[in-house]
Amino acid sequence: MHYFSTRDLRREWPATLDAALAAGLAAKGGLYVPAALPAFALTDFAGCASLPAIAQRLLTPFFAGSSLAPALREICLEALDLPAPIVNLHSVAGNSTHLLELFHGPTAAFKDFAARFLAACLARLRTRDDPLRTVLVATSGDTGGAVAAAFHRRPGFRVVIVYPDGRVSPRQAHQLGAFGDNVHALRVAGSFDDCQRIVKQVLGDRDLATRLALTSANSISLGRLLPQMAYYAYAALQLRRSAALDAAVAPTVIVPTGNLGNALAAILVREMGLPLGDIHFATNANRTLPDFFSGADYHGRPGVATLANAMDVGDPSNFERLAWFFKDRDVRSSGIFAHSIDDTTLSARIAAGEADYGQVWCPHTACAVEVLEQLRAGASGPFLLVATAHPAKFDNVVEPLVGHPVAAPPALAELLARPSHSEMLDASAAALVERLQLGW
Ligand SMILES: *Cc1c(COP(=O)(O)O)cnc(C)c1O
Repeated sequence: MHYFSTRDLRREWPATLDAALAAGLAAKGGLYVPAALPAFALTDFAGCASLPAIAQRLLTPFFAGSSLAPALREICLEALDLPAPIVNLHSVAGNSTHLLELFHGPTAAFKDFAARFLAACLARLRTRDDPLRTVLVATSGDTGGAVAAAFHRRPGFRVVIVYPDGRVSPRQAHQLGAFGDNVHALRVAGSFDDCQRIVKQVLGDRDLATRLALTSANSISLGRLLPQMAYYAYAALQLRRSAALDAAVAPTVIVPTGNLGNALAAILVREMGLPLGDIHFATNANRTLPDFFSGADYHGRPGVATLANAMDVGDPSNFERLAWFFKDRDVRSSGIFAHSIDDTTLSARIAAGEADYGQVWCPHTACAVEVLEQLRAGASGPFLLVATAHPAKFDNVVEPLVGHPVAAPPALAELLARPSHSEMLDASAAALVERLQLGW
């Protein structure tokens, strides 16, 4: 399989998977996309039950010709053997509403799946005489932790996290600074957009990036998109096999959406033939996608701060990939929808979670539940919702609304019990370069 840049419309510069994984960003500032999407039938997954086994089957065509192909099984086992339970939402009559919980990894958000997969690939692409690589990552909270956990104590790598001071939850901030060893957290007096800008600027300087052996693990990396497809295939197969669903119907999928990485993976899995129905993006007050899907031209804009901070994105990078896959079709009449949930509605939904469903939601998952409530007025399901983070990660938002403490899951509690250290950094690329040159 070859990969192209979304900005290479004439398909002039095919890249191998290995090159695409190592590079992060594609030619002309585009994003890597596979040359073709393979088609699958349910029978292709006969004998595959676990997430790693389904991932291996699904990703085999994408790894064809890669030096990593012989290691794919091992990579899937190492990175994706995390619990991804599908639970029923009990207030709903019958068995027709399912929640795919993707927050049981080491940092309690879905980003663990992708970060671990990318790390497993990059570690295997490393050659003996490679210099110590610095993985530079800007984060609005969850990506940084997931990347840190995935590369923590991995020989040959160090992680430098850049995050906006005061704009991530207190527990997220503690977590980012709690790894130690080869992980370094830098906090910037500015917004997530500022962090992303300075990191992009530094990574975009090729000479500098080579000299300092920098590499990226940002949310547009192909190495993050591929593994995210695996859990949608897993969920589609599980629901079909468990006879939870009538064989004639595919579940309507609702995904909390910011940069559009997670939801795009669901769309691609449906494109490849697995049984998923309409796909709904649940966004917060950042209306770029809802405005586009209700007929406006695409109009990227600065992100606005909301209670669901991991989705505070005003110009979702993966929109460019979506446009590539739908360049010959109207994406707005392709079973894809987008909804915006404001903070007031979101707060009410979190507050009502226990009474309505016996569940405490993270603010992002609560956006999806609100969309579910709106859709249920006109449709009977079945529904598949994605829970993107554990509510304990956003205790500052969630606890006042539910009126009691929310205990952290064990892996998160362990990080929170460790001391945490971060350094202040000026919000400029020059300051970041200076800090990187100083070393650790
Ligand atoms: C990153 C994140 C999202 C948004 O996912 P995208 O792939 O950027 O659309 C939603 N919820 C949580 C908890 C996240 O960390």
